[in-house]
Amino acid sequence: MAECTDLSISPSEAPLVAIALGSNLGEPLRQLRSAVQVLAQTAGIDVLACSPWYRTVPVGPPQPDYWNGCLIGRVQLSPWALLKTLQAIEMQFGRQRQEHWGARTLDLDLLLYGDRVINTAELTLPHPRFAERPFVLVPLAAIAPHWRHPVLGETIQTLRQRVGDKGIIAVLSDDVGETTFAAAADRPQPELP
Ligand code: ADP
Ligand code: MG
Repeated sequence: MAECTDLSISPSEAPLVAIALGSNLGEPLRQLRSAVQVLAQTAGIDVLACSPWYRTVPVGPPQPDYWNGCLIGRVQLSPWALLKTLQAIEMQFGRQRQEHWGARTLDLDLLLYGDRVINTAELTLPHPRFAERPFVLVPLAAIAPHWRHPVLGETIQTLRQRVGDKGIIAVLSDDVGETTFAAAADRPQPELP
């Protein structure tokens, strides 16, 4: 990872963070993989683990299916600096903010920042809705099952088991290069990417 001199947190104090990635416009998988590379090359962000990619049914207005995943990193940026960095990367990938919950080339949400709890207009931590969302909890549980939600007090694995896997259509593991279709998929199998 890049060396950096003006970071606000020293390496020994660098907290773990969880970031959700999503895309349903353009070439979602290409953009998601590329976003992971950009994050890994960003000063102050050390990417430690990345989940498989999950094809999911959209929530909100009618729009194409999503691909979603999560990563765990160690950061030397404050929560607000990290949010700004994520938003700048979204813009770099052509994100246009139009409709709430509308289609997007790249969505980067900050799910967890250590055990910090923040409630401001600009930034809410933990991310307010992720504990109800299979499309976040399923990928997050694949890489951070024992992380405890700092407000709910339950592990990611427990939250993931509670929400089930409704809306998860397929999973693609970059490690083995295989797509498998979720057993509970309530939809016809999509084209392979
Ligand atoms: P969503 O991801 O819910 O579809 P957006 O990506 O358009 O919505 O984000 C809307 C706003 O949410 C942003 O302007 C940002 O300031 C705010 N926000 C609050 N908390 C967070 C968080 N934990 N991660 C990402 N954005 C957040
Ligand atoms: Mg977002």
